[in-house]
Amino acid sequence: MILAKQNLAPLLESMANGRDVFVPAVVDGVAKFARYGEGVEPAFDLVNTTMPPKDLLFPQTQKMYHYDVDANGSYHIYEYDESCEQVVFGIRPCDMRSIVCLDEVFLTKGFVDEFYANAREKLLCVSIGCAQAAETCFCESMGIDPQLAPNADIMLQDCGDAFNVIAQTEKGEAEVARWESYLEQGEAQPVACDQSLKVSMDGVVDKLEGMYDHPIWENLSIKCLNCGTCTYVCPTCHCFDISQENRRKDGVRFRCWDSCMFSEYTAMAGGHNPRPEKLERVRNRFMHKLNFFERRYGMSLCVGCGRCVEKCPVALDITRLIDEIGATNA
Ligand code: SF4
Ligand code: SF4
Repeated sequence: MILAKQNLAPLLESMANGRDVFVPAVVDGVAKFARYGEGVEPAFDLVNTTMPPKDLLFPQTQKMYHYDVDANGSYHIYEYDESCEQVVFGIRPCDMRSIVCLDEVFLTKGFVDEFYANAREKLLCVSIGCAQAAETCFCESMGIDPQLAPNADIMLQDCGDAFNVIAQTEKGEAEVARWESYLEQGEAQPVACDQSLKVSMDGVVDKLEGMYDHPIWENLSIKCLNCGTCTYVCPTCHCFDISQENRRKDGVRFRCWDSCMFSEYTAMAGGHNPRPEKLERVRNRFMHKLNFFERRYGMSLCVGCGRCVEKCPVALDITRLIDEIGATNA
């Protein structure tokens, strides 16, 4: 089936009727996934948003429960479930792969994060394949086809003036059945997406096994500012902190994004900090992306979106690091 691009706007209008549909858009100067509606102009020509879509499943700040103490001194806890039916429309294949990583973290190994699970169940993912790459994109090197997102409910392959529409899950098939009046029969040729930035992951995971004390980390960490930008823009980073606001007899417990690049992240109550210096924190971030996650879940925690490459204020570039690791004799 084919969706002509001129039918995108009426299709979105119909989808947003009674549901929250999030589209790539520039809001207050920031490219992110924003709720489609008045004042939000979809920007499907953006190669990638600055802010990743992870907050649809793992909000930057999320209430977990509130509590109060009644006149008898008894405590009461009230849980929150603020999840609702959501659609992310126009998510790129690299960001869809990042959801596979987050699914592993929040839903597997014998532990299910209920907040994430509730939001994930109610999220419909419509991915748009890439017809062009930014100069910082390297998803192909990380094993991703920029025109395919196998875990999306619906895949829209960019064919120039139209999209090939491919329903990939039961949820996707049910949704596409509702799109009938916007679709035509047929199949077009997807536009090839040329990526100039390439890295080789050959041997990198294994080499890192023997590189924990390698001088590469010191050289790399010298210029890092520990600003945390790379972790906030990364679609797969998922560190969080849990805190509370107390107001005498009631309060709210919430979680919010944190960053392993901050020294306080690993500071313990007794004063010990296992990652006191930049070197340990920078090493941990890149080892987690390229080795630890691979060992635990069998996949890289970097999807090659290029956001950290573009946004790091001191040009600390994961692609150059991958090249350097590949060139070592470790
Ligand atoms: S964005 Fe760059 S400078 Fe900031 S914490 Fe990350 S690597 Fe360090
Ligand atoms: S590490 Fe950088 S390039 Fe890799 S997924 Fe995160 S932001 Fe994207």
